[in-house]
Amino acid sequence: MIVAKFGGTSVEDADAIRRLIEILRSRLPEQPVVVVSALAGITDELLDAAQQCGAEDGPAIERSVEALLQRHERVGRALPGCSSAMERIREDAEQLRREINGARDRRLSPAEIDSIVSRGEIWSSRLVAAAMAHAGLDAAWVDIRPIMVTDGRFGRATPYTQVLNKRARDQLKPLADAGRVPVTQGFIGATATGVPTTLGRGGSDFTAALLGAALGVHRVEIWTDVNGLMTADPRIVPSARTLAAASYDEAAELATFGARILHPATALPLVRAGIPIVILNSRQPEQHGTTIGPQPQLDRMGDSPIRSISWKQGITVVNIRAPRMLGTYGFLRALFEVFERHETVVDVLASGEVSISLTIEDRARLGPIMKDLGQLGEVWVEEGRAIVAIVGIGLKHTPGLAGRVFNAVWPANVEIISQGASAINMTFVVREEDGPDVVRRLHLEFFGSC
Ligand code: ADP
Ligand code: ASP
Ligand code: MG
Repeated sequence: MIVAKFGGTSVEDADAIRRLIEILRSRLPEQPVVVVSALAGITDELLDAAQQCGAEDGPAIERSVEALLQRHERVGRALPGCSSAMERIREDAEQLRREINGARDRRLSPAEIDSIVSRGEIWSSRLVAAAMAHAGLDAAWVDIRPIMVTDGRFGRATPYTQVLNKRARDQLKPLADAGRVPVTQGFIGATATGVPTTLGRGGSDFTAALLGAALGVHRVEIWTDVNGLMTADPRIVPSARTLAAASYDEAAELATFGARILHPATALPLVRAGIPIVILNSRQPEQHGTTIGPQPQLDRMGDSPIRSISWKQGITVVNIRAPRMLGTYGFLRALFEVFERHETVVDVLASGEVSISLTIEDRARLGPIMKDLGQLGEVWVEEGRAIVAIVGIGLKHTPGLAGRVFNAVWPANVEIISQGASAINMTFVVREEDGPDVVRRLHLEFFGSC
């Protein structure tokens, strides 16, 4: 068995879905389980529609829902066999209208937003399954929500692995064993009582990995719009090159620090069984893509000590100056307890003689965090920052790298620099507006082009 996940651009229109069908036809002997994202851009549009609630602009909300439906109608019309799928989608769009209208004079709760947003994957999977069936593939549409049981942290829910492992085996495996092709949704789940949840943006990759681990598949294929994991985001560095292979650790570091190509948690469920992830281009399925697996990758890109560069914007730096406390034990625990209490992830940390600087992405609890940190010392924040990460096992054996980095990124200012014990990454903070240029200059320094 394999899991084949198709991202938004790989199901964006009728042509993309036709390509998906041919890709799956070539995989039939391997018993594919199909996971799909919403059509490209639809999750953003659903979120926009949800955000309009409370603004009391009924006609605008109405237009948004209509536009969403029309986009699916166009795809449905262009693909034979989709008429009853479209009937279901229309009914659900009516229900969606009622949900949004019922709340248009107030802000929606996180649970209501997840219910709205989950439509993207439900609708795309209905179209894909119907088009596959018409093309002669024995597709079985499966609602993932009763399988992907999660906690109730709407917008970033955590799946209960043991429950989902059992349910995936009980419900998906028999279909595949019977020669059918299950088609299900990425990104969404539901609480034990059936309330819809989502796993966080880009979460379809994570769904694919969770199902892959549950079913003990041979590999998890991630079909997207580029040839694989590259030396940098090709939208920033057009000359970026594709890596033939990467380790789970490298992929996780790159994803954590902004490489949108993979959800940061994707490798996690697959590590124990050593199941490979293969990133492939649905527009060029003959390309080899990138295979991500357990082996550390010793092949350098040319003679570069690093293998890829990523960056993440929208970062806030929090600084704490606590001259008397810093050397005492218990201080760091107290510091991290603040972030734990406010459920806020810290990405990069650097400590000096009298102060500590750390970065956060989620600013929702910044006010209360600052108030609590104020008990520990003087606190100030810097906004509009970006984290740049350079990743590769070669970092371990290359002294003097920090100097090379500083030189390459000049005249941009490097504010915090940090290298973890695993030593496969080096991260630093720059001003957001400098981010893309810094990535390009580093690419020129380490890969000879930009
Ligand atoms: P999908 O909709 O298929 O999930 P995403 O848009 O989430 O696709 O991810 C693919 C995009 O990730 C690419 O189009 C590319 O711009 C971006 N990306 C960022 N960093 C990298 C990288 N290191 N290698 C390849 N692509 C990257
Ligand atoms: N459709 C969701 C998103 O846009 C999940 C995904 O594509 O992985 O975030
Ligand atoms: Mg994605």
